[in-house]
Amino acid sequence: MSALLSSAFSDFEFVKPARPIDRVFVHCSASDYPQHDNVATMRQWHLERGWSDVGYHFFIRKDGTLEIGRPIDKTPAAQAGHNRGTIAICLHGLSKDKFTVAQKATLRTLCVLINEAYAGLLTFHGHCEVANKSCPVVAYGDVLKLTSKAKLGYDKASTRIQMPANQNMADLEAPEAKEFPDHILLLKGSRGPNVTWLQTKLKELGYPVGKIDGKFETMTRTAVLSFQADNHLLEDGKVGNSTYEALEDAQPRPIALERQKQGLVELAKGGSRIAQASISQATIGGAIGLGGIASVVEETSGTVSKLTQGIGVFDQAFQTLGPWLGAIVVVGGIVIVLQALKAGRARVQDHQTGRTA
Ligand SMILES: [Zn+2]
Repeated sequence: MSALLSSAFSDFEFVKPARPIDRVFVHCSASDYPQHDNVATMRQWHLERGWSDVGYHFFIRKDGTLEIGRPIDKTPAAQAGHNRGTIAICLHGLSKDKFTVAQKATLRTLCVLINEAYAGLLTFHGHCEVANKSCPVVAYGDVLKLTSKAKLGYDKASTRIQMPANQNMADLEAPEAKEFPDHILLLKGSRGPNVTWLQTKLKELGYPVGKIDGKFETMTRTAVLSFQADNHLLEDGKVGNSTYEALEDAQPRPIALERQKQGLVELAKGGSRIAQASISQATIGGAIGLGGIASVVEETSGTVSKLTQGIGVFDQAFQTLGPWLGAIVVVGGIVIVLQALKAGRARVQDHQTGRTA
């Protein structure tokens, strides 16, 4: 593929990338200045944001010329949080009435070629559908004759997409701080902005990383491992392609920490019933470093009021140690309690069977 192609598509052939694709996104450059009417300017803007290349795969000039941007095999950096599985196309322009007939024709032809390569299975969207932006301003729904299911239409124009009347530069293509970075392999010992991005992302998703300092150390690795486990990824503590992609698309942990905490408290309460059995306080007192939890167990007489105190201790563990360490302490405590209960029961059985006097 040459870098610059005529709108006639005479020498353009769309070649499907190896990565899976399910959506195509349309953008605008948020500029009507002729000096910005080329992918080179766009690339420069994006390099200035610290990216390795222009974020879009295709750029369409006012005269309808199609320019090639980021290699199609690479995930775009165009729709924050929605880059995986997409192809990103940018039309030069800002004012709705200044997009040209030639540009719209090229957009339509390009999308038809892409759509045909995927046997019509793709859906087509504007950036505004996944971001609080007016981008791409151009009436892409009409140009692409989109159906109600965002499929490319071949008949009459759709009026599904209503574009906002007013736009300004700021809410169009303003740099997105959380933009998806390039896939530089990250592992323990890594440093730099990608690590900062990783830590910020993990924190947003509910995985504690401690201080966001751009340093990949033990806590960051632990967070990566948890994320990988939750997302059925290879748990190697390293951030490569698949982990990057999963991070990009991930939603915050489905189970809120508060709910997990509740669950543990419920479990602790549930323990009160089986805690009727006699328990050796030495077993537990020695095993648990946390005096508060130990005291609950020592005094186990099955009364809820005594346990409430212990639940307070669990709460305190969460508050002072943070949700995950707190959870580990609480779970650890419960495991020890259960083991102790088992031991206590065994002793009762022994006593009953006369093995011990
Ligand atoms: Zn956009």
